[in-house]
Amino acid sequence: MGGTIAMVPGGRGGVVPALDAGELIAAVPGLAGLGLEITARGLRSLPSPSIGFGDLVALADAVKAEIAGGARGVVVTHGTDTIEETAIFLDLTVPGPAPVVVTGAMRAPTSAGADGPANLYAAIRVAAAEEARGLGALVVMSDEVHGARFVRKGHTSSMAAFVSPGFGPLGLVVEGEPRLRGTPRVPMSLAASDKVAGLRVGLITVALGDDGEILRRAGEVCDGIVLAGLGAGHVPADMVPVVAEVAGRVPVVLASRTGSGSVLRQTYGYPGSERDLLDRGLVHAGFLDPAKARVLLLLLLADGADKERITAAFEHYR
Ligand code: ASP
Repeated sequence: MGGTIAMVPGGRGGVVPALDAGELIAAVPGLAGLGLEITARGLRSLPSPSIGFGDLVALADAVKAEIAGGARGVVVTHGTDTIEETAIFLDLTVPGPAPVVVTGAMRAPTSAGADGPANLYAAIRVAAAEEARGLGALVVMSDEVHGARFVRKGHTSSMAAFVSPGFGPLGLVVEGEPRLRGTPRVPMSLAASDKVAGLRVGLITVALGDDGEILRRAGEVCDGIVLAGLGAGHVPADMVPVVAEVAGRVPVVLASRTGSGSVLRQTYGYPGSERDLLDRGLVHAGFLDPAKARVLLLLLLADGADKERITAAFEHYR
């Protein structure tokens, strides 16, 4: 798909995507001795901030086609900025037990200590592993195996940028061998239809002193909204009337901006608390972080889900 793992210096300074899948594989030492048949296929060559939902629909179709064609597992190389969104998208739209492993690199191939080849090697080993079957989409970086529903990029530049806050990785790759202790994927499968690209789900982060005006305007142009609330799912009291009004028109999912942990349900009782907002019809995001909650809401809306079905889907993440 592109990303730093496939980037080389461009004409105007800085690195840009250029290498294709075959070139990435050719740069990985040790694959020949594994006895695996590996095929390479290019789909996009993009920096991951520019990947859109239309690209993800095409990716899900390509992954399903490889599996239907007999692939035991699929590795997707991708930019790290949005890898977590692509991973949850694939988790929700590619059914069946075949491992789908997304990987990338924090350092470009031309940098000292480039991590792409090691990440790709580990990802291929995980994609071929029996124990990875049934775990859903995975992100493999720095010899750690993360579940799509937990993983996030937690650092702008560290080689150890990927974390699963509150849960930890599902396993490790040790001396090239996957050691997995993951829990099975969430039992939910949604269509990756072109409708996804035609919908708009806003992600609004709440901040101190927020009067709700940004949310109000977003509510006018969005089909659904994820509210990244303060703490365990809170907003300032002044914002509550706007939240209630918008939630009366489009689904509003309540997540947390903290980066770890679940939105609460029944602890706080003040205006703008999680109890107040859930009573006003917001949907509880569980432990899904705001970016992942947005992907799930988008897929549900594209599938024609009503509020009841949306609420039930998010209950898988409680
Ligand atoms: N900006 C890059 C991207 O997401 C970062 C990376 O791949 O690590 O495409």
